[in-house]
Amino acid sequence: MITIDGSEGEGGGQVVRNACALSLVTGKAVRIENVRARRSKPGLMRQHVTAVEAACVIGNAECQGLHVGSSALSFMPGRVVPGEYRFAVGTAGSTGLVLQTVLMPLLLADAPSRLVLEGGTHNMLAPPFDFIAKCFLPIINRMGPKVEARLVRHGFYPRGGGRIEVDISPAPLRPIDCLERGSLMGVSGQALFAGLPFEIAEREINVVRRDLGWSEREACVRELPDDQGPGNILLLEAQFEHGTEIVSGFGQLGVTAERVAKKAVGRMFGFLESNAFAGPYLADQLLLPFALAGGGSFTTVKPSQHSLTAINVIGQFLDGRLGFAQQPGGMHLLRVQ
Ligand code: ATP
Repeated sequence: MITIDGSEGEGGGQVVRNACALSLVTGKAVRIENVRARRSKPGLMRQHVTAVEAACVIGNAECQGLHVGSSALSFMPGRVVPGEYRFAVGTAGSTGLVLQTVLMPLLLADAPSRLVLEGGTHNMLAPPFDFIAKCFLPIINRMGPKVEARLVRHGFYPRGGGRIEVDISPAPLRPIDCLERGSLMGVSGQALFAGLPFEIAEREINVVRRDLGWSEREACVRELPDDQGPGNILLLEAQFEHGTEIVSGFGQLGVTAERVAKKAVGRMFGFLESNAFAGPYLADQLLLPFALAGGGSFTTVKPSQHSLTAINVIGQFLDGRLGFAQQPGGMHLLRVQ
């Protein structure tokens, strides 16, 4: 059995999700100790439990230590069975992070699957639905499988209630090279809000228009039905010839709309200046599919601790070597060998 020390590197929930996904794909059992030891509330939280439960269901896996607060988890994988599944994160936990756990095993299975995931769709510290649909999945689709995601209803913390549907047509993952992002084709900014004053979203958009110089057509406010809130997220999107980046600012109690927007604007500036294909979040999420493809490469910004930790976890399951090499001009190249 592979043993992973969950306190190493980033020491967060991603270690658990990646380990379960890799365990299902490789058939190797895994034990994770010191789960989320580096977080202020260590151990599994509700959303991690749901993600592992989902992995158990699709992969006929057996698990020990699967409960909220658990600091050690043993995962014994079974056979992955494609099909129709519905998973609800009891709290407003992120649907995107549940998807992160089950997507690779299902897209390498021998028949299609359909997932219904309920919970949060636009959570802090997780990929918002738009990021999954426009930044991550188009690259997966270029690698061979066909994955389509639909947003049925938005869900924000703390209320949740969101719903996404995902159709997965499996195929082997083919190595691809994503070195150049190509020219900038367009930009768009949306301040989504539900059940909150219009003025919050308007102030965010004003910062975007002023600081990024985006026009009224490019950056606008979008009101969602009140019953999908309360919630607010600012999504800034840059579409390039070969890929899209979305940075987000999450509205939070006690943080001004201007601060939320400035942080997102700063991240967008950083990415626009960088020339890299993948931003920091996309980079850590691409490591698993690229490693499973057994080859390929992409350029990115400075690797995050999430990425470095993911490489260590992947290295425990797969033979291929993944490594970042710094390039002239500050970019980094990820190559799978
Ligand atoms: P923990 O509470 O332990 O931090 P977690 O399960 O919430 O755990 P992380 O281990 O921090 O999560 O992993 C978060 C994942 O969400 C990473 O894959 C990261 O790339 C992704 N992510 C976080 N914020 C964003 C964002 N704004 N846009 C896209 N992806 C994001």
